[in-house]
Amino acid sequence: MENQSAPASPAQKEIPFRSLHEDQWAQVPRGIPDLWLSVGAWVPLGTLLFYLIRFAPQPLVFGSWAPVLLTYSFFIGVIVLLGGAGRHAAWIGLAAAIWFDALLEPTGTEQQVLQAAMGYFGLLAIAGLIGQLRFAALLNSWRRQAQERVKVPVEALQPLRYTQLLPSWMWGLTSAIVAWPLLKAGWQFFTGADMDFAAIDAELYYELGVGLGVTALVQLVGLFKWLESRSVPLMALEIPVAPAVGPLGFIGLGNALPAAQLQPVQCSCAAAEANSKAEDFKYPGWILASEQCAVHGIRAVNQLAPEQFLKIAREPWAYGANAAALQSAATGRMVIAGLYGWGAKPVRLGVRGFFSGGLQTGAQLLPATAREPLRRADRSIRWVDPQGNALLPEAADAGSDRVIDRLNLASVGLRGHAVRVAGQRVRFEDSVARVPAARDAARS
Ligand SMILES: [Zn+2]
Repeated sequence: MENQSAPASPAQKEIPFRSLHEDQWAQVPRGIPDLWLSVGAWVPLGTLLFYLIRFAPQPLVFGSWAPVLLTYSFFIGVIVLLGGAGRHAAWIGLAAAIWFDALLEPTGTEQQVLQAAMGYFGLLAIAGLIGQLRFAALLNSWRRQAQERVKVPVEALQPLRYTQLLPSWMWGLTSAIVAWPLLKAGWQFFTGADMDFAAIDAELYYELGVGLGVTALVQLVGLFKWLESRSVPLMALEIPVAPAVGPLGFIGLGNALPAAQLQPVQCSCAAAEANSKAEDFKYPGWILASEQCAVHGIRAVNQLAPEQFLKIAREPWAYGANAAALQSAATGRMVIAGLYGWGAKPVRLGVRGFFSGGLQTGAQLLPATAREPLRRADRSIRWVDPQGNALLPEAADAGSDRVIDRLNLASVGLRGHAVRVAGQRVRFEDSVARVPAARDAARS
């Protein structure tokens, strides 16, 4: 499939492209859900620790380790690992059990308990690894069957870099537990300690030691993820958007507009207070729709003639926070890059689909982290605003809501009705949850 055409310009990268049919996308092998891998490692590890401290014949005595375990950096470190290790938690459990075994040189029941723990964590870790390898093998076979190559702007691949593999809060907390004792020690060095390292509180050295230890573990988790991500070289995949089929969930950006599409002459959304920090939004390039805007505001949408409203009825911004009720059974396709297995967070590419016949899903739909949910069929789109907050629909009040009209959306391909209510954002009503028309007719 190598293409010998002109080399890609510096800002572009040429990667293989593969389009998948729905049944191919459905072939992604089922894996152990993230939650099971995590809870299945942390709960037994906690139980094992409790047993070793309280009930074992040769109890785990912390001795000189006690000051380390009482530092706040240790607690923060535990939180970071609990939240960040994700699917790799079983490896930490295995390492801990091996470490306890070496530390205690146990005999009898205690030895059996530790051996059982090592066996359990080992099996869980290997089961997780096999799931990942099967997924990676399928992705690699798709890559070998690539239909062509496409040019992708390097900028679009930015979120796939190493620093983005771990959540930003993990970076923040680990840097904090290294920087804080360093700052305190530095302050003491120049003030109370008279520039003598020995005179600095021993506690600060412990804190710093724990901070560096946690940083090392976090980097190890990052390295694991990086190796996984390298096991599947970059490719562009055109996938069907069907939450119930493949490994990907989808994020719907609601209450939002793409900043590039705004016409500042009539639209005041960008100038609204809520968008003063739009560059720091979790989804940059999007801004919050303003309730007062002359184009996107509540009044503006409610005053549209029904046929004009139907033209924007598929745009989530028209529904404000009520977009959360929009149907998740999306059709169409999107092109992604950076899917390497469970836990991968691919990016959406602006590449034109190959087989989609123009049926690209709206730009407001983005890929979420690849994970095996407990029940694929129940998965729906997670609607958030550009800041990453979940959308909270307005509660309907049958008593005081003044319904303007109720428009059937069948003509724009949605099975349901748009209900326009005075002073509120439009509500989307699924056809199944339809309120009898007679009641509204009496009111409007
Ligand atoms: Zn606007």
